[in-house]
Amino acid sequence: MDRTNTSSPSDFIRDIINEDVKAGKHQSRVATRFPPEPNGYPHIGHAKSVCLNFGIAAQYGGTCNLRLDDTDPSGESMEYVESIIRDVKWLGFDWQDRLYYASDYYETLYRYALELIRAGKAYICDLSGDEIREYRGTLTQPGKESPYRNRSVEKNLALFEGMRVGEFDEGSRVLRAKIDMASPNVTMRDPIMYRIKKVSHYRTRDGWCIYPMYDFAHCLSDSIEKITHSICTLEFENNRPLYDWFLQELHIDPRPQQIEFARLNLSYTVLRKRQLVELVEKGVVGGWDDPQMPTLSGMRRRGYTPAAIRNFCERIGVSKNDSLIDMALLENCVREDLNDKAPRVMAVLRPLRVVIDNYPQDRVEEFDCAYHPKHTEMGSRKVPFSRVLYIEQEDFLENPPKKFFRLSVGREVRLRYGYFIKCESVVKHPHTGEVIEVHCTYDPETRSGFAPDNRKVDATIHWVSAAHSLPAQARLYDRLFRIADPLSASDDFTTYLDPKSLEVLNACRVEPSLAGASQGNHFQFERLGYFCVDTDNSSAKALVFNRTVTLRDTWAKIAEKGNALKR
Ligand code: ATP
Ligand code: MG
Repeated sequence: MDRTNTSSPSDFIRDIINEDVKAGKHQSRVATRFPPEPNGYPHIGHAKSVCLNFGIAAQYGGTCNLRLDDTDPSGESMEYVESIIRDVKWLGFDWQDRLYYASDYYETLYRYALELIRAGKAYICDLSGDEIREYRGTLTQPGKESPYRNRSVEKNLALFEGMRVGEFDEGSRVLRAKIDMASPNVTMRDPIMYRIKKVSHYRTRDGWCIYPMYDFAHCLSDSIEKITHSICTLEFENNRPLYDWFLQELHIDPRPQQIEFARLNLSYTVLRKRQLVELVEKGVVGGWDDPQMPTLSGMRRRGYTPAAIRNFCERIGVSKNDSLIDMALLENCVREDLNDKAPRVMAVLRPLRVVIDNYPQDRVEEFDCAYHPKHTEMGSRKVPFSRVLYIEQEDFLENPPKKFFRLSVGREVRLRYGYFIKCESVVKHPHTGEVIEVHCTYDPETRSGFAPDNRKVDATIHWVSAAHSLPAQARLYDRLFRIADPLSASDDFTTYLDPKSLEVLNACRVEPSLAGASQGNHFQFERLGYFCVDTDNSSAKALVFNRTVTLRDTWAKIAEKGNALKR
């Protein structure tokens, strides 16, 4: 890749890398990694990190590894590993043969720990968890040294071996680094390196009952893989001196460099795995791939595209300041991509029957309709037109207000791709009084969509032929939460779930060309929004469409009116 490519993004991380490359650090090599813990499905925040790490590797002609950072057996599973592999691939990135597991390094990490014990830099501590916390001190008070801090190397080696073979109970002992209990950085006050956990690991099974802590495992995993720039989120800033300490004490040179950036926070959703696990476990959503979830599998099922997500990640950029990114930005990236890629078809979500009284009973015309006004290469399909149609209920009003330009008795509108029709009368339900059928006449001279006498209509509405259309279900997804930042409030964040974030419509009718739609296909339903064929529940017999996003940002309008919370 061209390193001088001016269209490549620039940011403070790339500035650091530019300097390192210029200075010949690591022989000017650039190696990054994306290190998820397999304890949940990846979400849009992870996508930011994926795009950053793989993007940098590509830009500098380097490599990016996929590393499963699986050092805590509780909550980790193969299902999560598979979701990570699937989703990073789907985003469009390739780690070639560099798929690694931190759990493959357990033996090496254990040997590094022995080395630190031998050097007098680590010791076995028998304080309880509570005592360790108490001894640690606070931001304003120095810590207190553990009474076990000065055990002999021999004793420490013997106890550590005992920990490894399972002689001791969980919580009875830990291995700690011997650094400085008075350090102003609390992280440096003899941090824990290993703890006993008698829990089976999804890969190593019962091979280990001691597990390394993140701070110890991460820097060494990076150095084992010869990572040059270890990019992580801001909450690890205080851990950087510890990252460096382990590498320095183990005489590792050259050392990978940890660089922190601000994690993605997105409005109207939550992005911490803990919260996502809660939504799944409480059954608030239908699973990790529920289209309302901010997970990549949820977004894929909803119809978001990898290109839209990559574009979003590029636009938000990287910085050192935490912020809340507006969901509208992501939705706009999705619209932009689908605007170009999605074929346009007609579907009626809430059907109202229209009978064209002056159209012959058994006549059927076929209109040739282009799939995209700009992209002729997308071709066209035939859309049947007949005497009985369905239109959208909201395109007809019995008592229209002044600015309603669609159908009402006495008014004329254009049917998309076809004739002008004029409403003559309505049929009402004998009991409810609801309009159940609209009677119209059509003007045969307006087949082109224009009238020979140049008369104008104010609206064009979509439709399907009643006899030819197919039944379908539409799932109208909206944002998961009612407020922009559900975590900022004092109540439990689930209080702010929006009960209207999903509306299911079962009586939809779609044009017959959709009979051949496959799972995952994207469409624009004209005037309604972008929809995607559901990958779980849709079949040729029972079509199910997920609304990916509306055509316009309706939330912006609501916010303008200042009643976003009251929706
Ligand atoms: P959580 O805080 O939700 O538990 P995590 O950061 O522990 O997530 P990991 O699986 O450890 O999740 O994350 C893998 C990588 O993705 C890490 O490098 C992490 O910094 C990055 N990452 C996680 N969440 C975000 C986010 N919201 N924005 C940017 N990067 C993120
Ligand atoms: Mg983590």
